[in-house]
Amino acid sequence: MVKSERNSVITRPSEVRVKDFEEVSCGFTYELMKAEAERCINCKNAPCTTGCPVGVKIPEFIQCLKNDDLDGAVKVIKLDNNLPSICGRVCPQEKQCEEKCIRKLKLGGSVAIGGLERFVGDYALQHNPPTPRASKKLNYKLAVIGSGPSGLTCAADCAIAGIDVTIFEAFHEAGGVLVYGIPEFRLPKDAIVKKEIEKLNELGVKIKYNTVIGKTIKIEELQKEFDAIFIGTGAGLPSFMNIPGENLNGVYSANEFLTRVNLMKAFKKGADTPVFVGKSVAVIGAGNVAMDAARTAKRLGAENVYIVYRRSKEEMPARLEEIEHAIEEGIELKLLTNPIRILGEQKVEGIECVQMQLGEPDASGRRRPLEIENSNYVMPVDEVIMSIGTRPNPLLTREYDGLETTKRGTLVVDEQTQETSVKNIFAGGDAVTGAATVILAMGAGKNAAKTIIARANSKNN
Ligand code: FAD
Ligand code: SF4
Repeated sequence: MVKSERNSVITRPSEVRVKDFEEVSCGFTYELMKAEAERCINCKNAPCTTGCPVGVKIPEFIQCLKNDDLDGAVKVIKLDNNLPSICGRVCPQEKQCEEKCIRKLKLGGSVAIGGLERFVGDYALQHNPPTPRASKKLNYKLAVIGSGPSGLTCAADCAIAGIDVTIFEAFHEAGGVLVYGIPEFRLPKDAIVKKEIEKLNELGVKIKYNTVIGKTIKIEELQKEFDAIFIGTGAGLPSFMNIPGENLNGVYSANEFLTRVNLMKAFKKGADTPVFVGKSVAVIGAGNVAMDAARTAKRLGAENVYIVYRRSKEEMPARLEEIEHAIEEGIELKLLTNPIRILGEQKVEGIECVQMQLGEPDASGRRRPLEIENSNYVMPVDEVIMSIGTRPNPLLTREYDGLETTKRGTLVVDEQTQETSVKNIFAGGDAVTGAATVILAMGAGKNAAKTIIARANSKNN
């Protein structure tokens, strides 16, 4: 019997979870997973699949769940998505596959595809299905720069095909934003991310940490040793508003704040990582990064945390679930509000804001925020976290001639192959798209891997 209303995943109560960094969502129980899978009516055209950026065969994996065939569901998902336990947690499903689900409007809400994918991904990690092995070794070497989702996916697919893969990572841990950006309470590192990285080690992928390509090793040196290079360096350079007061003590970029807390373990009791947490914190911006910074500040003891955003709630780019969770945890939304100055002598004492109203849609399709005259007021805060976007770090492109870039500093690639303007140098993820999503980064890594594998096979024939 098809249950009509969407089943919700279990979440920990907000008053409990706001005091720790443990995972907020506990996912589906087996019974809830089954009930939710039964809601899929197996539509002929499967519009959900067209909403998924990597085209996961959604009805097919849900059918496996209906048949209690979890191993089958793992196999189906992994054809298109190497990291289902991660994507099930962090993909903006409501704007992708679930947005297209036929049940969305009139049939009790879209099928909870993300929750089901997470269930399958976690099953795969717990039951440790054997890591696929390369059937043959190819005489072909690939250097992957950066160990975020794009680099990890490209590395895994190429290693399975028999290519000799080495990842070069600037930090002392692998995972990119999955480890230094997205907090523990949304994506547990030991239970999820590290297990996925262990699988790469099993595949024979070598990872060289603390190696900044462009500084420690030049691209030209990599070109001498490797047949191909994949650049997955992300978009980690934070943007600022260029308003007065951004140099005061107590102003962070969200990237720096989250990196200190996540990668340098400031979230652990007794850790001696220096990170300042104010009593009243204003986070400027309303994307996933802003939500993560706000909820992290709250967990570290800030009494008042505000999301300051110049548009309205409808335009907030963060995942719906994160916005709802943030509000439940006591984060206050200061909407239609734009900071114009940070106040203070040496330390932050407040921000001067103006009220906004929405005008006609701009180039992004969203209604343009316009200042309301004489609406200035001061919000007393002692910390400001800027979260208004990031760009690729220009280190590689400045240091190495020939890599074509856009005005925004992103790498130009061929859409089919992910190859840059330099032969046998490929790129993908945020370094190409600008700050985007985990699944798009993985899709780009997979796409590049297809061409790299074809070149490796032709060299070995
Ligand atoms: P990254 O994950 O940025 O990894 C790049 C890696 O390259 C890093 O490890 C970096 O240290 C390394 N590197 C950089 N330069 C060099 C160099 N010169 N030499 C060697 N190594 C180098 N997306 C979602 O889909 N859902 C979410 O909920 C979500 N939340 C987010 C929350 C935060 C706080 C942030 C910051 C991002 C979030 N995103 C989310 C976006 C998503 O994480 C990114 O789109 C994705 O990680 C991009 O992957 P990538 O492989 O391109 O690069
Ligand atoms: Fe199932 Fe919804 Fe996809 Fe239809 S659109 S196949 S109901 S998940």
